[in-house]
Formats: sequence, C-alpha cells, structure tokens
Amino acid sequence: MKNDPHDGLLAIDTHVDIPWPDGPSPFADGPRCVDLPKLKTGRIAAVCFAAYVPQGPRDTAGHLAATTRAHAMLDAIAAMAPADGTGGLITASAEAIEAAHAAGRTGIIPAIENGYAIGRDIGNLDAFAARGVRYITLTHNGHNEIADAAIPRRDLNDEPSVHGGLSAFGRGVIARMNELGILVDVSHASKASMMQAAALSRTPVLATHSSIRALCDHARNLDDEQLDLLRETGGLVQITIVSNFLRLKARAADLTVADIADHIDYAVRRIGVDHVGIGTDFDGGGGVKGFMNASQAPNLTAELARRGYERDALVKIWGGNFLRLLRKAEEESASFLKKRSKILS
Ligand SMILES: [Zn+2]
Repeated sequence: MKNDPHDGLLAIDTHVDIPWPDGPSPFADGPRCVDLPKLKTGRIAAVCFAAYVPQGPRDTAGHLAATTRAHAMLDAIAAMAPADGTGGLITASAEAIEAAHAAGRTGIIPAIENGYAIGRDIGNLDAFAARGVRYITLTHNGHNEIADAAIPRRDLNDEPSVHGGLSAFGRGVIARMNELGILVDVSHASKASMMQAAALSRTPVLATHSSIRALCDHARNLDDEQLDLLRETGGLVQITIVSNFLRLKARAADLTVADIADHIDYAVRRIGVDHVGIGTDFDGGGGVKGFMNASQAPNLTAELARRGYERDALVKIWGGNFLRLLRKAEEESASFLKKRSKILS
C-alpha cells in the first residue's frame, strides 16, 4: 500500500505476556497473539515481554517461589533470541532497540510483572537488571511488600490497603530501580501507590498497560489526576486494548480500533502526545476486532492517521516516547554510577 502511515515506524508494544515455559519457544508460529511471523507482518519493531508472577502469600516460601518463577520466565524470554539467529534479539537499551530495527531484527525487551518477584530482598533487583530487565510492574492484582495494588486479592485476605500506597521498603525499591536503570511500571498499582511512585521516582514512571478512567470506570485505568501527574513528572500512559478496560463489560467482538483510538485521543488532549503510547497486553487478555493480534497493528495506525495524527505524533505514540524514557533511565543510572565511583576512588 502506498503512503501506509505504519511504514518505517519503530513500533514498540510495551506489554505482552508469555506462556509458562513448558512447551516450544513462545516465539514460534502458532495460535498466540504475538509470535515472530505476526510481529513481522504487523511491523512491530520491539516488544516488552513480561515475566509475569501472580501474587501469592507474602511469606518466605512465597517470595522464594516468586523469585524462582521470575528467573524461569526470563529464561523463556531469553530463549526467544537463540544463538542461531532464527529469533529476535535481546535489546536491553534504547540504542540496541534502534540498532535491531535498523538491521531488520525484532527487539525483545525483558520485563517483570509484579515486584513480588523480589520478595523482601532488594538485592534481587541487581540480578534482574543483569538479565536485561528494563521495567518492573510494582504490583499485580493483590498487595505485595512494595505497594498496595489497585485490585486487592480477597483470596489472600487482602485489606483494601496495607501500606497506604508505597511501603518504606517500596520506596527503597524505587530508589534502587532508578540507580539500576529499571523503569517503574505503575499499571496495577493503587492510585495512592501510583501517585507516590510518580512523585518519588527520579526517572519518570509509566503505566505500561492501562487505559482511561474517564472513558471506562475500571480500577485498572488512570483517572485525570493521575494523568496530569504523569504529564507533570514526564511519565507515560501506554493505552491497553483489554476490552473491559476500553468499555465496561465489553467483549473483544464489541470493540474496534476506533475504541482504542478514543482512549489515545483523550490522553493526548489531556496530557499531550509526548506522554502517550501503546501496550496491548496481548496474550494476557488484550485484543479487539481489527487488532486481535500483532499482525494487525497497522489497522490502529491507519485509524489514528485518519483522525489527523501526523508522522511525528505516530512516531512518538508507537515507541518514540518509550525510547525517550528508556534513555532517561539509562542516564539516571549512568550518573549514579559516576557519582559512586567518584566517592569510592
Ligand atoms: Zn497486567
């Protein structure tokens, strides 16, 4: 197609789930929403793959199991980039993502969904950073040692709040994430946790897969006050395409890319195009008619172009803003290391 607005974009999807590693590579052609052939067809340059850890008991055994699981999931993510060159490339920096894109290779950005994976041991952050993890979602559904979640887990006897937002430990976790260049993902966090994290973090925070509360009153979405704080602090909301986060009680078949574009429009009008992106939550519940898998990404771009989004805006929304945030995290980490080596020398 001539003048396809998706052509040449460095498109990044900031949140995709992987299966529990018990079968063939999750990157092989198959029934999932995201695999290598679909990413090629949809011209998605890079994907943040989440090592997802469900919330469990907040005790020593629970924390040990969570850390072990996160490492196993990271092994599965690493396996998407086999040495024979048939898969993608692990791209743990903004520069590496751009280089992979220039070389026509798919970028794989490791991430962890649920800070429960570090338990009560902040040293686990260093091990995850060493494996290329570029963001950690502070919580999943259910409170952990770091923060309160937007959705408590009744089966784990969660109170509405246990920390009033971030815990003292959680504040230390964010400070260490800043030093290591790991971005703070506030999707799934309670409003108090999110607002405190945004105010505290030296690197702006992002919601890697959340939509707009004013359009869909779901606890996982961000309200206007939260959006405004993201603008003030330089953060991002990455609009997600889970049907009931776009319209309450809707199913995938009820919605189209126009519904996604409505949420993007709202965020852009409220906080500006520099603070908005896309995180599908494919293979974790994401998908609407016309954008049921990664191969159909150009349909959303076409809808945005139809609404008047020009090249510059599409570049920012589809990954430019996320790359900017990654670079900020890298600069923050580099300046910390420089200060430390000065003190130690
Ligand atoms: Zn999630």
